Amino acid sequence: MAVMTAPANTSVWVDTDVCKACDRCVDVCPAGVLAMVAEPTSTLGAMISVVVPEDCIGCNECELICPDFAIFVADRKEFKFAKLTDEAKVRAQAIIDNNHRLPAGY
Ligand code: SF4
Ligand code: SF4
Repeated sequence: MAVMTAPANTSVWVDTDVCKACDRCVDVCPAGVLAMVAEPTSTLGAMISVVVPEDCIGCNECELICPDFAIFVADRKEFKFAKLTDEAKVRAQAIIDNNHRLPAGY
């Protein structure tokens, strides 16, 4: 399997060629960083998107739960992650409640 090169100054990124849009990473993200977006070319009609990269806290939960090794988190030694805020927690729940999509207004 090819190893993706870490993009510069990026908290979390996705290999969209292998993401199966299973929603699991969205479910575990405590900071509302990830959401599904409509993608007609994908099998399930959706694709993962890093919607608020600046709020990523670097917890690695998304990378650990992904069954397809499709999402990657920057190394703590190379990236300064955010702290978890109440606003981010509220957004995370709002995304889950909205069928894993970012609700209008965010
Ligand atoms: S590392 Fe944690 S906060 Fe960042 S996107 Fe993954 S689950 Fe969310
Ligand atoms: S857990 Fe992996 S395969 Fe599932 S939506 Fe997230 S990146 Fe895609």
